[in-house]
Amino acid sequence: MSTISSQFKKLAKHYSNAEIKYKHLKPVTLAQWMLESGFGTSKLATENFNFGGLKWRQELEGIAEKVQYEAHDGIDDYCKFDSFDNFIKGYWKFIERPPYAGWENHVTTDVEYIKYIGKIYSTSSLYADKVIDLIPEAEQLLTNTDKEATGRLSQQPNPVSGIYKVRFYTGDYRDRQMDANKDKAIAYVEHHFNSFESSLASYSVVTTGANASSTSLNWGRWYAHAIAQEFGTTVGGSGGLFVGGAQGKGDGNLRYTNMPAILLEPLFASNPQQADIIRSESGQTRLARVLVESIQRFFPDGGLIAFSVGHKYKKSKPRDMGAALAGGGMEATYSEKVLLIAKTILENIETPQTSRQIRVIKGNKELLNLVIDEDDELTWDPVRGLLQVIDHS
Ligand SMILES: [Zn+2]
Repeated sequence: MSTISSQFKKLAKHYSNAEIKYKHLKPVTLAQWMLESGFGTSKLATENFNFGGLKWRQELEGIAEKVQYEAHDGIDDYCKFDSFDNFIKGYWKFIERPPYAGWENHVTTDVEYIKYIGKIYSTSSLYADKVIDLIPEAEQLLTNTDKEATGRLSQQPNPVSGIYKVRFYTGDYRDRQMDANKDKAIAYVEHHFNSFESSLASYSVVTTGANASSTSLNWGRWYAHAIAQEFGTTVGGSGGLFVGGAQGKGDGNLRYTNMPAILLEPLFASNPQQADIIRSESGQTRLARVLVESIQRFFPDGGLIAFSVGHKYKKSKPRDMGAALAGGGMEATYSEKVLLIAKTILENIETPQTSRQIRVIKGNKELLNLVIDEDDELTWDPVRGLLQVIDHS
């Protein structure tokens, strides 16, 4: 453990309460500031509230002032901030500048983020690794300051907080599952797109481990059928499921989980029409929405949901991106996009689904949401354009 200045602890406190776009990047960025400011002891930090070693840039006008400062690489213009909050704002403004263009494509995990921006932020090839080493300490600092603020654990956790938390797991498949087990995730989803020699293949299917629980089987079946409905296709496998994988493939992706786990293959990357859907933002949103609904249905009380992007982020095969899409693009790119959208939707859900609902949706907008009785019967008459709710009681 390093000695952390009391000023830096205050920064951590402000940061833990700050509203930023990618909340899950707080620990890694705080770790970065630890490194940059020598745990809050650099002159730039103590005199100028600049914990990031941020050089002066025009874009920071209005948030920071220009100040001359001599660092290890000579005298230069640096940013001077007047508060913790302005430093936090200034840091993110700094990252939004053109040299870091594309950074928002690298925000799924903290490691991915620092590996991407670290190459630009610093010339040291070890920079990202040094920051990564400090993440646990930063995490602790962020949670501890929370407690210090009230003197005890706050009795009411965040007043407006979602009931789901989503975390992405990376590394080799077994490691992802072990990590999700350790975190006590309540459900595990690995996202893929299917691929076949024939470009006509178009069914939706879910793989489960050979040792899958009945919840996994029911959840997977529900998802495969809902996807087939959504996209007007059919289900593959046995009623939408490959239990234990197709010829064993896929089993190892799930078999080490302690919680219900499914591997999704909603559409075919090799089918040109489906590839177009996969590449479109509206298609990704439709896929995400079905996934979210399946999670709400099978895990209504909320909890930690583990997401795994198929192929990507494996240590053993770091370049694997899965199948090529007909017409361009790679499977894992789009699996990740769908999961990111699903994460956003899930984390904004504030109450468990406790009643049966019927909804009318246009594009991404919900036009109507009605609660109906569990026993009501529904019929759709396409001639009259009428959905009838029939109450038999
Ligand atoms: Zn795949």
